[in-house]
Amino acid sequence: MVKCDICGLKEAVVYQRHTGRRLCKECFFKDVLERVLNEVKRYEMFKDNDKIMLAVSGGKDSYVLMNIMTQIHDPSKLGAVTIVEGIKGYNRVEDLDQLRAYAKDHGIDIVVVSVKDLSGYTVDEMVENSIRKGLKISPCTFCGIYRRRGINLVARSLGYNKVATAHNLDDEVQTLVINMLRGDEARLIMLHPKRRRFSELFVPKIKPLRKIYEYETARYAYLKGYKPQIYECPYLNMMPSLRSKIRDILYRLEEERPGSLLKLLEEYDKLFEKEVEKREIKLNTCIICGEPTSPGRRVCKACELLIKTGLLRYEEKIL
Ligand code: SF4
Ligand code: ZN
Ligand code: ZN
Repeated sequence: MVKCDICGLKEAVVYQRHTGRRLCKECFFKDVLERVLNEVKRYEMFKDNDKIMLAVSGGKDSYVLMNIMTQIHDPSKLGAVTIVEGIKGYNRVEDLDQLRAYAKDHGIDIVVVSVKDLSGYTVDEMVENSIRKGLKISPCTFCGIYRRRGINLVARSLGYNKVATAHNLDDEVQTLVINMLRGDEARLIMLHPKRRRFSELFVPKIKPLRKIYEYETARYAYLKGYKPQIYECPYLNMMPSLRSKIRDILYRLEEERPGSLLKLLEEYDKLFEKEVEKREIKLNTCIICGEPTSPGRRVCKACELLIKTGLLRYEEKIL
């Protein structure tokens, strides 16, 4: 039996590649919790009185987020929201029931909203129309935009002043590299945990798991006995996105040089810290739906997608 490198007593069940340590279950849970707390404190992600809406999908990371947040914040000040995309074969009633039951057991109220409620169409319907029109828009673009919109709308309308998402370290570094490759300065600033609030209409987002590797959230969920959603989205490999390519490259890098992803994010945090404090990004308001949109845009991406796919008619020449 290999003993835990921290307590030296119990059997090690996790090999933490980036530190080279082998940890028992308890020391691993404690290590993850402490690292989340450090990150939360370092960036003052929330205060004791904050009402935090947890954005949960039913995947492993959302269970880990709920578990950790109920340990570090008053559960009566936590809520959860999940968005049903409307993707055949992916949105399963049993997964939703399990998510509801878990949230209820932890004293968290959960709100369920569908993309159809938000836009009038399911993600499947948007994708069908897009294909029919010969457009090359990834299904994840429709899905991601409406999911983000739904989470923000629900949090805002129910009076939550923070939204916590379950993004892990791998997700964050992928986004960082994508924004760098695109030279998207505004998004590079917006990714930083110290960024300013850029619109009264956006409930500020926090990402407590941003320094926890994906293999760690997977291990955490497994050791806790969670049964997250296992069905893959049918669109996952339909159109290989830049993100999936970056994911593969970063995966190989981390295999060869464990700790690389953490180092990348740490360096970005330090390098951009001063810059984001100085920078104020003013978002525009969409002339159609009134929701905030990126600087320089008159119509938000959500409305633009519906117009392009023929699902929303708008007379003025705006695109
Ligand atoms: Fe949505 Fe893409 Fe994820 Fe499917 S793979 S749930 S379309 S973001
Ligand atoms: Zn131990
Ligand atoms: Zn709009």
